[in-house]
Amino acid sequence: MSTVRHHVIIGSGVAGNQAAETLREHDPDSRITMITISRLPFFNRYDLPRVFRGERDWRRFIIYPAAYYRDNRITLRRATRVVNVDSASQILKLEHKESIHFDSLLVASGAGAYLPEELSEFRPLLHGFGAFRDAVTVADALPKGGHAILLGGDTIGLDLARTLLDTGHRVTLVAGPYTFWPHEVTPEERPQYIAALQRMGIVVVEAQSRGGIAAIEPGAKGLSARKLTFEDGSELAGDVVMPFFGIAPSLDFMLGSGVDIERGLLVTPNLRTTNENIYAAGDVCQIWTDKARRYCFYHGWKNVRAMGELAARNITGANEPWVPTQDEALHLTADGKIQSPFWEYQ
Ligand SMILES: Cc1cc2nc3c(=O)[nH]c(=O)nc-3n(C[C@H](O)[C@H](O)[C@H](O)COP(=O)(O)OP(=O)(O)OC[C@H]3O[C@@H](n4cnc5c(N)ncnc54)[C@H](O)[C@@H]3O)c2cc1C
Repeated sequence: MSTVRHHVIIGSGVAGNQAAETLREHDPDSRITMITISRLPFFNRYDLPRVFRGERDWRRFIIYPAAYYRDNRITLRRATRVVNVDSASQILKLEHKESIHFDSLLVASGAGAYLPEELSEFRPLLHGFGAFRDAVTVADALPKGGHAILLGGDTIGLDLARTLLDTGHRVTLVAGPYTFWPHEVTPEERPQYIAALQRMGIVVVEAQSRGGIAAIEPGAKGLSARKLTFEDGSELAGDVVMPFFGIAPSLDFMLGSGVDIERGLLVTPNLRTTNENIYAAGDVCQIWTDKARRYCFYHGWKNVRAMGELAARNITGANEPWVPTQDEALHLTADGKIQSPFWEYQ
């Protein structure tokens, strides 16, 4: 019987790619298969705001060329969706019915944009920003000098707001509890950070002061493409409306796997799930944290990459605990703007 182990990684983001690199280093003879829904190879999401600066060639966002995967003997399965994981028989099923056996499985399936339930009926009128194609679509919908309405205002949205202002667009933020997510900002601290956003050129409307959002509709002919109405009857017109309410782990395919889940896949500090052959890393997992006495999410490029590396080391025999590597505090710069460590990458 072959002793060559088959490591399967679900996800080709920061966590999955770092894990593949480390697995190849620590288990040179193994088979490594990486599966992703994406049609593009690993690309830099953090750089997507560049699309608004006119960068439309997806090849300029790609981190590793095809040759990298070939040279490192990593089988990259693109445009492929995992629909089910059977942890007892160590088999995962792909949407097109193929089954793959794994000796170790790393779930690094990340997260998608979260949309609060009360806004879900307006989804067709909202522009997403999760993928390269989304970024191009919204950039095309926003005219020169046009007006973008950002809902929620997590750090991904605020990063985009900086680019939009810099490229001559107007930005209105409809602020609420998700503003600055995942930073934890106390009610006492909030006014100074909101003032910083205004200094940066963002118009801030507190959703609660207007009773919340009542409706989002297409604008009338000849007017802006979107009209947002608040519960108090006041209105806001813009060319695009984009939701930024943080993220929700992508793990539907794990629901029948027998592995424990809260909001994310629950893992011990060494990133192992409740199944000994299945690990998780990146935005999809919640790590047991002794200090907090609960399972916590850790976000940001540096944390996610470190998780991918740690999971791979532990899959190949180590037994090391997770130590966060990212500064999670929101900062104010000397000229009074906000600066988030989540905007730093590489
Ligand atoms: C536009 C954008 C900008 C961002 N900017 C920032 C930022 O500035 N700062 C910050 O801290 N964070 C930012 N984030 C969040 C950041 O992307 C994540 O923290 C990080 O990339 C997570 O990496 P990951 O490897 O866990 O997952 P991801 O990079 O999300 O990768 C998930 C992978 O899993 C695959 N996958 C999911 N489900 C399946 C399935 N069923 N079958 C097969 N494959 C599957 C996907 O195709 C993808 O390849 C941004 C996110 C977006 C969308």
